Amino acid sequence: MSADPEETKSRAALSSCSVGLRECLEATRAGHELTFEQGLLLATAADADLEALVSFADTLRHEAVGDAITYVVNRNINFTNVCFVGCSFCGFGKGSGALDAYSLSVDEVVRKAREAWDTGATEVCIQGGLPRDLDGFFYRDILRAIKRAIPAMHVHAFSPMEISYGVDKTATPLRDYLQMMKDEGLGSIPGTAAEILDDRVRRELSPNKLPVARWVEIITAAHELGIPSTSTMMYGHVEEPADWVRHILLLRSIQKRTGGFTEFVPLGFIHENTRLFKHGGARPGARREEHLRVHALARVLLHGAIKNIQVSWVKLGFETSLACLKAGANDFSGTLMEENISKAAGATFGEYVSPQDFRRMIRSIARVPAERTTTYKLRHLYDSHEGPAAPAQPQLNLVQSGAHVSYAEGAY
Ligand code: SF4
Repeated sequence: MSADPEETKSRAALSSCSVGLRECLEATRAGHELTFEQGLLLATAADADLEALVSFADTLRHEAVGDAITYVVNRNINFTNVCFVGCSFCGFGKGSGALDAYSLSVDEVVRKAREAWDTGATEVCIQGGLPRDLDGFFYRDILRAIKRAIPAMHVHAFSPMEISYGVDKTATPLRDYLQMMKDEGLGSIPGTAAEILDDRVRRELSPNKLPVARWVEIITAAHELGIPSTSTMMYGHVEEPADWVRHILLLRSIQKRTGGFTEFVPLGFIHENTRLFKHGGARPGARREEHLRVHALARVLLHGAIKNIQVSWVKLGFETSLACLKAGANDFSGTLMEENISKAAGATFGEYVSPQDFRRMIRSIARVPAERTTTYKLRHLYDSHEGPAAPAQPQLNLVQSGAHVSYAEGAY
């Protein structure tokens, strides 16, 4: 009987790495949760150790979720770029008097959601800046209007920062506010505004942003009320590998309590047009090795807790995304169908991947495309051949590999 190729690959990886790393990976294989120190060993793996980590993470991915690479057909709607928070890593937020400041009405948001639905989207991802004069019930009104117009549309909306803002603006207790939003049709929450869940790092990135304890409180309350969320981490700026490990272990501990995270999304820092890079001493985003390390680390540390690791093609470009999908990740994110963010960065390309292009890219790395819902129910598994053979390198005229757009929450 021939050996399982995944098992063979995993054994080869373990045999070529250092003793310390091998012990960590074997502990994971035996079902143990890794400690902070073990996580740090993974987070700093280089050369043969990094290769082993990536290969092992890919095998774990195969065991946990199989060979499908999922994606969701969705649209990002960033309803305003007016924001007073002033995060130093953000090229999206503008002052209310800026020439390129914009705000969409509820009707315009609904029109965009309708357009998305008519072209096959099952989800709208809605986030925006925080204008000082925002009506406290604007978020609720958006939900209400979309669900009235398109009852079956999944509304994935409002970061913990926005939830916190809505709570403050309406002077409503957190759980009551979240329950109201759920009753109005909120399907899930983007786990953005997390950046790095360490108050020391957050003070450098954005002193006006909600502290770690509040982020955790909001996410936990949402999960307890039956509102799932994603989880994210922004890396490649002023943080260190130890911060990744603490961040991911915190997410793991929340997940063990609530089970409410649908996925983990590492978000590579986009440095162009940001104060954090120009004046804050940040490095210019992660290099390819670091992207691989973070995705593989997440797969191993979250093994048994969060099943889905998502690549953000908006941040990584396609080539690096495909590499990370061979390093532990299993989800390609969404089609997005929106242009605001790339325009904000001065880019000339669009910000949309068609489902067909997703499928071509997925097949180009010998995996199986599958469209999913927001909460990872499979809508369609494309396990038989369709259309012309995939090119060796995806040839798309949309976002090019390595092209960057400015950071905006929800752009993943
Ligand atoms: S990241 Fe979000 S909260 Fe921070 S400045 Fe940008 S739009 Fe505002």
